Amino acid sequence: MSATSQLLLHSGPHVPTAVNPAGERSTAQGSQALRSALAQFDSAAALLDLEPGVREMLRRPKRTLTVAVPVRMDDGSVQVFDGYRVHHNVTRGPAKGGLRYHPSVGLDEVKALAMWMTWKCAVVGLPFGGAKGGVTVDPTVLSRGERERLTRRFASELIPLLGPERDIPAADVNTDDQDMAWIMDTYSTAAGYSVPQVVTGKPLELGGSQGRQDATSLGVAHCVLLALRDRGIDPEGATVAVQGFGKVGAGAARRLAEAGCRVAAVSDVAGGVHNAGGLDVAALQHARRTEPQASLSLFGQGEAVSNAELLALDVDVLVPAALEDVLHTGNAAHVRAGIVVEGANGPLTPEADAVLADAGCLVVPDIVANAGGVVVSYFEWVQNVQAYAWDEPEVNARMTALLDRAYTLTQEVSADRSVSLRLAAQAVAISRVAGAHRLRGLYP
Ligand code: NAD
Repeated sequence: MSATSQLLLHSGPHVPTAVNPAGERSTAQGSQALRSALAQFDSAAALLDLEPGVREMLRRPKRTLTVAVPVRMDDGSVQVFDGYRVHHNVTRGPAKGGLRYHPSVGLDEVKALAMWMTWKCAVVGLPFGGAKGGVTVDPTVLSRGERERLTRRFASELIPLLGPERDIPAADVNTDDQDMAWIMDTYSTAAGYSVPQVVTGKPLELGGSQGRQDATSLGVAHCVLLALRDRGIDPEGATVAVQGFGKVGAGAARRLAEAGCRVAAVSDVAGGVHNAGGLDVAALQHARRTEPQASLSLFGQGEAVSNAELLALDVDVLVPAALEDVLHTGNAAHVRAGIVVEGANGPLTPEADAVLADAGCLVVPDIVANAGGVVVSYFEWVQNVQAYAWDEPEVNARMTALLDRAYTLTQEVSADRSVSLRLAAQAVAISRVAGAHRLRGLYP
């Protein structure tokens, strides 16, 4: 096992795992994520005075699938991994949500992430429901061949749920466009013809959309600029710290640097780098691509900083863009940023939310802040269904227009009801989903 994978297994929030008799894994992290998602839902349901039947339906996932994924390893042995796919709600359209490879993946975490996907699609007005999936695996220890066999077998186990009108996965933590290409190929091989619209985040050559790879980070950066505007802070020289230097965090940091912000710190699972004068984010991204395993502090840009220290830096904006529950009762009071923009899904527990609200911090919630990715995934699906491709400026303009609309509506509800942006965004989303339930009625 490499040094990095040991870190991944031992330095993150990787916590004791419980496996119930049905083989369903849940971790303390996953259980906390589900508690957070349900607590947020309960607050919004109370604000909306939601009727008990609809409330009960929306608290639960519509369906969950747990699969055993046997994989032939390079040494000839067979390892069996746990895989999950959860459809939280499909009342407004097909289930949409990413697939994650991480040692802490478990059923509760996937249920929470699927619920957040339902609200995210609804708040930005996409005709999709919410889903999420993943495999409990440390992908850094897999060879490329092992990873391909894992991805294809996982996809094939999910086939009963998948389909362009049923369930459309995408990339998430530790998965990428190559994994999506393998999923598209596995599904298409079973169907007997090419079905690009079964998955989004594909390479351009296979029907991926212009702008998809950067869409989430572009949307996060866009929301940071909206929040700075609302707080009357000039982006030129505004200071930012970003936790997570992956697809979302690195791209957001680069966009913000391009917009004139001073990105003072970035980190990944192994720690980060801090330079109060500002980092050269593009150079860091380049160095990281050349040496994917090296610590970010070894590229000569500043001092090493731990993840705990990064979250407490004296900056204008903090962007948690790694995993759930990184801000909690134990550390929320240490946050000095006046604005927190949630690049990750569920990075704040409800307790941390309350502490930051008391401190007057403006929190832009995940379901709006990182919705750029699913918006462009929707555009990718639309383009595939029409067998037509848009250019990148059109994709980006349409995406930021949808984000602007969701952000403004959220702000209006927040001001109107004197509630946080999170509660307002969740209320908008939940009222749309509940409204769809009422119109469709209950079968039979
Ligand atoms: P990624 O795998 O590309 O990057 C994750 C980053 O987080 C890596 O830099 C990793 O080292 C770091 N990380 C992991 N564990 C950490 C820890 N314990 N402490 C600090 N850093 C840690 O994943 P991503 O796609 O960038 O996703 C990041 C977050 O954004 C997730 O919450 C994901 O669900 C959410 N998100 C992603 C997308 C998307 O389009 N990829 C869309 C919406 C939301």
